[in-house]
Amino acid sequence: MVKRDYYEVLGVSRDASADEIKKTYRKLALKFHPDKNPGNKEAEEKFKEVSEAYEVLRDGEKRARYDQFGHAGVGGAGAEGFGGFAGGFDLSDALRAFMRDFGGFGGFEDIFGRGMSSRRRGGRTVIRGNNLQVRIQLTLKEIALGVTKKIKVTKFVPCPKCGGSGAKGGSSRQTCPNCGGTGETRRVSRSLFGQFVNVTTCPACGGEGAIIKNPCPACSGEGRVKGKSGVEVTIPEGVATGNYITLEGQGDAGPRGGPSGDLVIIIEEYEDEIFERHGYDVLCDVPVSFSQLALGARIEIPTIDGKASLKVPAGTHSHKVFRLKGKGIPRLHSYGTGDQLVRLVAWTPRKLVDGERKIFEELEKTVKDKPPPPGKKVYSG
Ligand SMILES: [Zn+2]
Ligand SMILES: [Zn+2]
Repeated sequence: MVKRDYYEVLGVSRDASADEIKKTYRKLALKFHPDKNPGNKEAEEKFKEVSEAYEVLRDGEKRARYDQFGHAGVGGAGAEGFGGFAGGFDLSDALRAFMRDFGGFGGFEDIFGRGMSSRRRGGRTVIRGNNLQVRIQLTLKEIALGVTKKIKVTKFVPCPKCGGSGAKGGSSRQTCPNCGGTGETRRVSRSLFGQFVNVTTCPACGGEGAIIKNPCPACSGEGRVKGKSGVEVTIPEGVATGNYITLEGQGDAGPRGGPSGDLVIIIEEYEDEIFERHGYDVLCDVPVSFSQLALGARIEIPTIDGKASLKVPAGTHSHKVFRLKGKGIPRLHSYGTGDQLVRLVAWTPRKLVDGERKIFEELEKTVKDKPPPPGKKVYSG
């Protein structure tokens, strides 16, 4: 594979300042970071490429060698610590370079991104537990009033027998004899340009730098077992289907004392039997008789959390919509509440009995306000 020029990769000139290189790299690394582009191989390659270029150009000595000898100048024996260059600067090298200079990710790490990630802690690699997802279904009333839900989750929890260490009884973890605790094995090879050091994850300890001589029988040395755990989650008012809540550290426990992943609660809304939701407003039809519309009436109507009384003025047309201010759903993380819209619909008797027919015939003959001719807007208020 032909390597592109490092300056070209970062898009900076050959006399760019260290500060300019750092700023440019940060911008590119954030754009192509795998946490922002899950499953995107092309972005990952870009991320590795810019990180490798940065790794050389940030260091005055390496940069000088690169300027003089090109790629061969920085892949050689002198390139301590990044011997992996010749065999390819891999993703963990790139992530380490980024982490070293720019620290944590703050809020930008995607919650559905890579669940398993490993970080070095106190000289050994710890593996983080998986993020878990749970769906919960809420009624319209729960959404409008807010609710606290108890959720049972089946997940990895620290092994109670060994306290999460993975080691049996009082035995302890031992430094991996294969890699001496570094978690990496180095293989030196020689070529025309000097010697190269290939760094790979130690197969004996899986990169953790330590092994367990006597594994705990309860968890087979994993330090965690499947268990049930109850969590309480408070749902704020006004959520909707697709909203989610992240409970940090409530996901799977990591193996052998690794940090826990997150638990992501995904909201699903039950379809309500009475109300149709439109954003923060709710709408329902209330059938009323023709005489109630004509004579006026006080009727009882349903609301999300009970009942209300509505005064129907005499002479109200069918399909008139009444707005009940503040009887809808509170706005999520904001002020104010939506409204309830009530549409009165004339209910026609489908079958007339006894003297009813006579009364309607009488009405038809005597009522003076006849229906208007057909048109676009028959109801005006
Ligand atoms: Zn155990
Ligand atoms: Zn090892």
